[in-house]
Amino acid sequence: MKKILILLIFSISMISFSQEKKFKIVLDAGHGGKDPGAQKNGCIEKEIALDVILRIGKLLEKYPDFDIKYTRTTDVFIPLKDRAKIANDFEADLFVSVHCNSSVSATPYGSMTLVMGLSRSNMNFEIAKTENAVIFQEEDYKKTYQGFDPNNPQTQIGLKILQEESLLQSIDFASKVQSGFKNNLKRKDLGMHQQPLWVLDATVMPGVLIELGFLSNYAESRYMKSEEGKSNYSQIIAKSIIEYKDQIKETTTEIFPLDIKEPKIEEPVIVKPIVEVSKDSTATTITNDTVIKDTIVGPKYKVQISFSTKKLELLPENFNGLSNITVAEINGGYKYYYGEGSMENCKKLLAEAKLKGYKSAFIVESK
Ligand SMILES: [Zn+2]
Repeated sequence: MKKILILLIFSISMISFSQEKKFKIVLDAGHGGKDPGAQKNGCIEKEIALDVILRIGKLLEKYPDFDIKYTRTTDVFIPLKDRAKIANDFEADLFVSVHCNSSVSATPYGSMTLVMGLSRSNMNFEIAKTENAVIFQEEDYKKTYQGFDPNNPQTQIGLKILQEESLLQSIDFASKVQSGFKNNLKRKDLGMHQQPLWVLDATVMPGVLIELGFLSNYAESRYMKSEEGKSNYSQIIAKSIIEYKDQIKETTTEIFPLDIKEPKIEEPVIVKPIVEVSKDSTATTITNDTVIKDTIVGPKYKVQISFSTKKLELLPENFNGLSNITVAEINGGYKYYYGEGSMENCKKLLAEAKLKGYKSAFIVESK
């Protein structure tokens, strides 16, 4: 009887001990609901992010020493401050956010991780701007984020810096993810970056934002969209989480066997050249049976030359002699664009615009 009692007390204490030891992880799928994130090559960031996050969760749910919290499990909009609050209230040990990168150019590809920290590097700042831009979609954002303006690097300098220890742990976890992507998935390693991202800054535990790859790069967008790609990414992230947990909690976990598959990359669609038919030609110039159908599947671009609060007539004399100007009204101002077409074409137009004096002109995707 005594033996049974001791055994009973022992097992009860074991249960409470193991409960105490649970590693709390917050899995955060970027964007959602009215905020789709990046949309390129037929992929939507919020969908890929959620898919990968749910897969990571499924892999971790098999381990009883994980306590998992999701910021969202469906297609809903969650303000950044709520994501941080979820993580803080949960007293998470680690905050992992999954996103997809995007660029105005179709060339960049590769994976990167962002850990909380301050960096004035412009390239990083551009990413922070897009990931933080969602703030503008929230009402009263000025009040809620206490003057935090994602478009102004200066306002970010005042943000509190995470305790150094958390930062080092974030870097430690990020490096596991990064090397897994590189070594197991053969992804291009764009490295770890310190970044003042609002969602990470407002959480008090180690936090890492993972940019899986670039949706703006056709081949990489196929990889991210594929079953194999999503499975591969989530396995590496889940494995990294387990390894990180083992390191922090001084435990040893038998990690699931990796099942890395190469995705079947679809053949890229060959974009046929645009046949330009002059406006005043009434007769169709294509008379034989090799009719070129509308095969322009890739994104179209245009060159943004200026932004003004003044509405200008779209005449060449108002634009240093440039014709083919279009305008878009945005937040009480006007964005002026020169030309439209493929990236190749727009590069030429950009050079032309710069020659005409629009030194800070740049290429944007045409919607
Ligand atoms: Zn994102």
